[in-house]
Amino acid sequence: MPGKYIGQTQQWLKSRVSQHRSDCNIGKNSCALVQHHKKTGHNFDFENVDILDHENRYASRLFLEMLHIKVEEKTAINFKTDAGQLSNIYVNILDRLKLAYIFMLTSRDTS
Ligand SMILES: [Zn+2]
Repeated sequence: MPGKYIGQTQQWLKSRVSQHRSDCNIGKNSCALVQHHKKTGHNFDFENVDILDHENRYASRLFLEMLHIKVEEKTAINFKTDAGQLSNIYVNILDRLKLAYIFMLTSRDTS
């Protein structure tokens, strides 16, 4: 099943994506995306990245990132701890609303 990686960034999208790409190439063990690549050999489709949301405030981006990871937990290859700070209040709301796709950045792998 294709996995996706969700991550917030304040950088230009292209810069962040090429960072992930080069981290994969040199095997730098920095994030869940790189570790997934190292462990499984799956390659991410870095040409097809979606911008899921825009938010200038860092704390709000972190919150949105956790929401998106939580909603996408079935397919997201993010570490479970990436959404670990999310209060159960929000988790319950999300479960009820079955919130759709408001994510910031995803990258599907091509496996
Ligand atoms: Zn994969």
